[in-house]
Amino acid sequence: MFATFRNLAPALRLNGVNVLRHIHQKPALYDANMLQQQAFINGEWISAKSGKTFEVLNPANGEVVGVVPDMDLEDTEAAIKAACDAFHVWKDTTAKERSQILREWYNLLVKNQKEMAEILTLESGKPLAEANGEVVYGNSFVEWFSELSRQIRGDIVQSSVPSKKILVQHQPIGVVGLITPWNFPHAMITRKAAPALGAGCTVIIKPAEDTPLTAIQIVKYAQEAGFPPGVVNLVTSSRANTGPIGKLLCEHHLVAGISFTGSTAVGKILYKQCAQGVKRLALELGGNAPFIVFNSANLDKAVDGSITSKFRNCGQTCVSANRFFIQEKVYDEYVNKLVHRVKSLKIGDGSQEGVQLGPLVNEPQLHKVAEFVNDAVSKGAKILTGGKPATHLGKLFYEPTILTDIKEDMLVYNQEVFGPVISLIKFKTEKEALDIANSTDVGLAGYFYSEDVSQIFRVSNNLEVGMIGVNEGIISCAEAPFGGIKQSGLGREGSHLGMEDFTYVKYTCIGNLS
Ligand code: ADP
Repeated sequence: MFATFRNLAPALRLNGVNVLRHIHQKPALYDANMLQQQAFINGEWISAKSGKTFEVLNPANGEVVGVVPDMDLEDTEAAIKAACDAFHVWKDTTAKERSQILREWYNLLVKNQKEMAEILTLESGKPLAEANGEVVYGNSFVEWFSELSRQIRGDIVQSSVPSKKILVQHQPIGVVGLITPWNFPHAMITRKAAPALGAGCTVIIKPAEDTPLTAIQIVKYAQEAGFPPGVVNLVTSSRANTGPIGKLLCEHHLVAGISFTGSTAVGKILYKQCAQGVKRLALELGGNAPFIVFNSANLDKAVDGSITSKFRNCGQTCVSANRFFIQEKVYDEYVNKLVHRVKSLKIGDGSQEGVQLGPLVNEPQLHKVAEFVNDAVSKGAKILTGGKPATHLGKLFYEPTILTDIKEDMLVYNQEVFGPVISLIKFKTEKEALDIANSTDVGLAGYFYSEDVSQIFRVSNNLEVGMIGVNEGIISCAEAPFGGIKQSGLGREGSHLGMEDFTYVKYTCIGNLS
């Protein structure tokens, strides 16, 4: 099976030529023979039944870097049917078999890490160093769940009646739809698909319309790794077809559950759509992460953390710090250091050496960031640096920005800006900072810097979020549970909890034992 599949998928390196370099030189070169650009259903690389396609653009320069199938309901039905048929076989494989295929998938992803990162940069605009980091991070979930899939355990519980035995086991839920965003085109797929597959589920991946090429590569290596036909399916679609496809996945009687990462607005639509069939649902939605710098903080570390937490992926990260609360005694010193660092950030095409900040992913994103900054300025905010699009670099670049004099009625105060904008708020007391930080209906991540150990425990306990970085700006990893509280979502990804969304607990009572 391995050898046959290998022949089916065109290689990224053709006759030793790096395809992406080729694409850079000739932007129109999106020959399907060179870079896989099809969807994948039931073990076959296919086009949409309608024949329709949509273009994938490089956010750094607007060039077309791919053309992929614009699938619709008919194609999705086929994917669901294939995944359902495959489930009946896949669920009965041993954990060891599943673990070995996951490990092979991991090995292939590691082997092709460099090319994966280049494709990721090409379609998302993310600087190459960050794209590399994402691929390493994304791969780590496949490794982690290849190990964990062999650790799914049940229980034999002591019965209070001698003639009964109580058995508890975990079983795969069935076909799952994985709907993923463009900001982490690699990791958001592996973080869902690896535990689902390891648990014995079959998957239909619906990647974001901005970044399907990375998804295609991931699936290409899944195929090479030896997942049987129908176990891993990939449905690519334009934004226009996404709503109906999402609805079908949520409502179809053969789909057992949905795992979604994306905006809170879309998460709520899926929640409603899943209600009718009482489908299993995992939601990783937006946040409004506080970043608090207390008087006792090490300011250099706090500034480092601010930069990594805020400007990673140009601020387009759901765990990005959104509002920055700085205690009054250290406010001026922190702000001086921060402004200096932000002004030195190198912004440009992410594929170029040394670039730290790429473009925003698409026009709606650029408009959103500009709208938030303009709204704040119109209501009295002051710009310390940045504050406008960097049009000399391209259509989608926005200067890294710091705003002060933030007020409660501003969009940047209430909502996630999802862009390279820091909003600074001065506070006096710990209670005041906590009250403002918690005065939101979302709760994904939060960060604070303090060298006071009692304060560290106090604030960690009281911050209303699912994940906290104490003196640390980057917190996600395969071993830790990722997820939010309040309207930031349901369920946890990564860690040993990441498999729970994909299994049912089954209790079996064996009675009348003599
Ligand atoms: P963003 O606004 O940042 O693009 P979205 O939540 O809209 O974030 O997108 C995340 C994922 O959800 C993408 O794969 C997108 O195609 C998909 N999506 C968008 N709208 C819907 C919908 N109505 N139903 C299902 N999926 C959707």
